Formats: sequence, C-alpha cells, structure tokens
Amino acid sequence: MAPDFFSFPPLPEEIRRVIEDGSSFLVIGHVSPDGDCLSSQITMGALLENLGKQVALVNAGPFERSEITHLAGLFQTSITREMKERNPIVVVVDCSSIERIGSLAEEIEGLTTIIFDHHASGEFFGDYRYITPRSISTTFIIMHLYKEFDVEITPEIADHLFFGFATDSGFFRFIGSYRGDVLRYAAELVDLGVSPNEMADRISGGKNLDYIKYVGKLIDRSEVLLDGRLIIATSYIRDSRTFDTTDRPSDMLYSMLLAIKGVEVVLYLKELEPQLTEIGFRSSHVSPVDVGELAKRLGGGGHKRAAGATVNESVESIRNPLILLVKELLR
Ligand code: 5GP
Ligand code: MN
Repeated sequence: MAPDFFSFPPLPEEIRRVIEDGSSFLVIGHVSPDGDCLSSQITMGALLENLGKQVALVNAGPFERSEITHLAGLFQTSITREMKERNPIVVVVDCSSIERIGSLAEEIEGLTTIIFDHHASGEFFGDYRYITPRSISTTFIIMHLYKEFDVEITPEIADHLFFGFATDSGFFRFIGSYRGDVLRYAAELVDLGVSPNEMADRISGGKNLDYIKYVGKLIDRSEVLLDGRLIIATSYIRDSRTFDTTDRPSDMLYSMLLAIKGVEVVLYLKELEPQLTEIGFRSSHVSPVDVGELAKRLGGGGHKRAAGATVNESVESIRNPLILLVKELLR
C-alpha cells in the first residue's frame, strides 16, 4: 500500500475572512473538558488576541479531571448579555455536535459560528467548519493555524499545544505509520522548551492512593464477554462512599483493559443517576469496530477508537442492548 501521508486541506478563504474581519470573539469548548479541549480554547484565544481581537474563553464545565482543574480560572461558564451584545464571532473547538457545549448552545443562538474539530463522527453544526479527522488532536489543527496566520508560538503556547497532543494521542501511542508530521510538529514544541518528561508526569501522575484503588476495583469488577473480545467495566454512584471517584478513572482504566490479549472493545459504564448512564467506548487498533459510529447511534459521538455518549437509561437496562450492538459489529 502506498504511504498514506497527511497534509492539512487548505483553510477555506471564507473562514480566513470571517476571522480577519471580526473584532470580538468567544472561544467555546465541550462540557467536562479534557486537556485537548481546554488547550485548544486557550491557544485559539491567544492566536486571536495576537491578531488584535477581543476574546473571551467560555466553557460550561465541570472542570473535574485532575490534570485540568488548575486551568478552570481562565474560563467563564456562561455568556452574559453584555458579551452577546457585542455580536461576537463564536469559535467552537473540539466538539462534534452542538449538544457537546451544554447550556452554551442556547446562549450562542443567532451568532456566526466557526467550528475547528478533529472528530470523525457527530452531527454537523455551525456556519463554517474546518474538520480534519486525521488530526490527532484539535490543538494539532490550532498549531497549523498559528502557521497559517503567521503568529509566533511562544514557549507558553507550545506547552499548551503539546499538552493537547499528548492527552489525545495516548502520549503519542495512538499514532500510526507515515505520521511523521505529528512528531515533527511535536519536535518543534520540544525545541521551544516543552519537556515531554515533565508533561508525562503532569498527565498521569499526581493521583492519590484511593483513586488508584478505585481503578483497581473497576478492573476487579469488569466482565469479559463475547469470547474475550469485549470487556465492560461499571462504576456505580455508591462507589463514591468507598473510593475517591472525583477524578475520571477512564484513561488509566482503558489502557489496562486494552492491554488484555484478545480484547477489542472496552465499554465503561458510569452510573450518573439511577436513570442516566455515561458510556465510554474504546476499541483496539486491530478491531473492525468503529466506536464513534456506535456512540453516534446512542446520541453521542467521537472517533473510531475513542468515543462517548450519555443515555437516559439505567446501567442494567443499557447493558444488554450494548452487548448486542458490539456483537453485531464484531462479526
Ligand atoms: P472520553 O471517554 O475521553 O470522555 O471521550 C472520548 C472521545 O469521545 C472524545 O473524543 C470525546 O470528545 C468523545 N465523547 C465523549 N463523550 C461524548 C458525548 O457524550 N458526545 C459526543 N458527541 N462525543 C463524546
Ligand atoms: Mn480532542
């Protein structure tokens, strides 16, 4: 097979014009933001400020993942009337559908909206879109925009960009052949002073023992199904009485469960309320299952290998339909 190199599609002229002509901007990301989302908002905001624009960063939160809580202070959680009266251009980053921005969806109604995203599945929204699913992170797209608009990447911006690359790519483990372009961008950031070593500690370290015990409990409780090809881990509301459940166990949990020989799909069911379940999906790089498509069928979205959805069902009632859906796709 011919090498499948990646290059960015041209930035549509109308997007360039809307950005150049605008004076006031709101930069918005998704609810329960992760590192890539907040870093994308911060670096997009800085890019626009560099172009002489007035910018506010807005995210409905909650800011619960331990690696991002320290960034919460940079964000407003709603759009005030004064902000809206300026008729700002809205830039939405890292969101595959309008529901992903939560309560802000209503607040931006009527405003011109540009989307920068790397999700493969979701529901298109916004007036202008630059979506490149082969980008490992949304920050990867934004680094490209710094080059397109000829704005200098400072060491501080480099740090935020690398943080997004690392959180969304499993610290560069989810990058395949012929993607030297990603590592070349990353190398530029390292030459600007980013320390991958320090970054790895920031992303995976700093957990407390109760949190690690919680991950252990979820692994202990997980069920292997479909001849070992599917594994389901379940977290209940009651777990918060025994464990430290404030941080999201997902990343550590997924990498351990995907390390099991033969496992192709991991489902993480998290009971949020008795009739409200968050589902995290992961598939291994050898699996035919596109979990982004699977999540989309349940009203969520994401990527081929990582996706999510929240459903108005109990953990028990969603479990069997999910197993059947995966069974169908594993054939
Ligand atoms: P995580 O499991 O890390 O929260 O999310 C994995 C991927 O799925 C991320 O790319 C995230 O944006 C996407 N994702 C997670 N939950 C949802 C959801 O409820 N809706 C949509 N559209 N995407 C989601
Ligand atoms: Mn992302």
